[in-house]
Amino acid sequence: MNLIGSNTNDFLNNNVKVLKSRVSKTAYQGIVVAVVALIIATLGACYYTTGSISLNGIALVQKTNIALWIMDAVPFVFAFWGQYSSTILAYEASALVIDQTQELRERADTFEKQARYNITHDLLTDLPNKELFYDRVEQGILSQTSQQQSLSVLLIEIGNYKQVSDTLGRNASDSLIKQVSVRLKSAYAAPATIARIDSNIFSLLLTNIENKQTVLSQAENIHRALEEPFFVEKVKMACQANIGIVYFPDHGGDVDTLVQRAGIALYVAQNSNKGYALYDPSYDEHTPRQLTLMSELNQAVERGELELYYQPKLDLRNDCVSSAEALVRWNHPRHGLLLPDHFVPLMERTRMIQALTRWVIEASMLQAVKWADSGHNISISVNLSAKDLNNPELPDLIAGLKGRTGVNPEWMMLEITESSIMSNPETAFEIINRIDQMGFRFSIDDYGTGYSSLSYLKRMPLKELKIDRSFVKDILTDDSDAVIVNATINLAHNLGLQVTAEGVNDPAVLQKLRREGCDVVQGYLLARPMPVSAFEEWLSSEANQFKEVVTE
Ligand code: C2E
Ligand code: CA
Ligand code: CA
Repeated sequence: MNLIGSNTNDFLNNNVKVLKSRVSKTAYQGIVVAVVALIIATLGACYYTTGSISLNGIALVQKTNIALWIMDAVPFVFAFWGQYSSTILAYEASALVIDQTQELRERADTFEKQARYNITHDLLTDLPNKELFYDRVEQGILSQTSQQQSLSVLLIEIGNYKQVSDTLGRNASDSLIKQVSVRLKSAYAAPATIARIDSNIFSLLLTNIENKQTVLSQAENIHRALEEPFFVEKVKMACQANIGIVYFPDHGGDVDTLVQRAGIALYVAQNSNKGYALYDPSYDEHTPRQLTLMSELNQAVERGELELYYQPKLDLRNDCVSSAEALVRWNHPRHGLLLPDHFVPLMERTRMIQALTRWVIEASMLQAVKWADSGHNISISVNLSAKDLNNPELPDLIAGLKGRTGVNPEWMMLEITESSIMSNPETAFEIINRIDQMGFRFSIDDYGTGYSSLSYLKRMPLKELKIDRSFVKDILTDDSDAVIVNATINLAHNLGLQVTAEGVNDPAVLQKLRREGCDVVQGYLLARPMPVSAFEEWLSSEANQFKEVVTE
């Protein structure tokens, strides 16, 4: 803006200079013409009076000829006129320069303010937008000096916005939002910040709160303010508002966490009678926090936030731990350790699962090589997802990783489920056969829970059946579960497969499985899934103690 001003100033000043020089030039030309005319007139008058041209004659006519006296004055008149008019011109032009610069400055100022306003405000309601709101929350956090004070963020969602938009059109929903914004603006003055951060979501920032409980009454105030009916295109309607509330610092130390958790509280509010809810960490389990996880999953692999935990499998035929199941964990920067149930199903809905499978296979192959190199004879079971058996690139991917890691395929077991095969059996068979031909082994996971067909089981190159833990856990108390387990063990053995029972967490269950002829057990009784270092420690120290348990 100053740049614009000074440039304009220079530009106008230069123009004044040009104008001034033009005026002076015209005056000079006038002087020259006047002087030439004076000389010619003097010479003419001298010749006319004395009959010749001489200095005496010139002096004589200059003294006596009144017309020449007037002509003598003309150059001075020109000189004076030139000087005078250029001064006047310069004066007027300067005034013009000042005026125009001022005007330009003001206009640039207004433009700049407007542009700044537009990028920080919502055009429909004139309220601060998301960017400005986040900024204000950040400033609020920074200026929160006292431990006693806190700030609060409330998300206010207009629940029937979409319905209004769908039935009465966009203008109607805009009108509803505008009316809501007027009520909120009149209910909350500075220092509170009220903003519109999404099409149907307003947010309120309250600072310097000394008593947190008062915030809950604010939620009731908002409901009261929005209680009176609205008139949208002559239709009388109610506004269904839900409010999610968080406090700083209790519920998060930064604006992203606060707003995200206020969103979780909002989700809970939608299903509560009060229409508002204060965030509680226990809500995380029941809300679509997963929705926000989705956006972060992409980078989880790249940022190295995934980790494989290993759960030992005990071979009852020789009482040795000779294999382990690799179970993925996500060390989330904010939520801490996340179990696969929180993110694997989400990944399975998108192509992200391919990146996860690739990472898990590669990491477990590298681990198998490491263990082999350090003298451990541990094979690793890896879980494939249902989507993987529809991916024709999987065999080549595994071949590539096998080449890169140098793994012996016999050290690896791939766990698949019955349902993942049945969704597209022909493709699945082809993929499984190609991987089998490379030497990798397959296991049917969660056996008994899916729709299975014996003929498929027979056709597939399997090595193991894993009986689902839902049958195993009640084997002592539920007769039908005991029958299923017994039948499965026999079936597997008849098909030449080894049987693993998972979810073994009771010594008596283990003894029964041993009597039934089960080959391998896995469960909390032995150990929970552990990070590599803990697994290795467990192998060297706890295994002996464990042997006492199995032989009791
Ligand atoms: P799963 O394949 O059935 O894995 C066994 C699950 O049972 C593991 O849960 C394990 O911690 C748990 N478990 C083991 N012993 C016991 C026990 O004695 N009692 C009880 N109650 N549970 C026991 P986790 O690690 O939470 O994994 C859950 C599921 O997530 C897995 O079920 C598997 O389907 C999937 N998953 C895990 N890692 C991966 C992966 O790398 N890729 C894919 N695609 N899926 C994975
Ligand atoms: Ca498994
Ligand atoms: Ca399982």
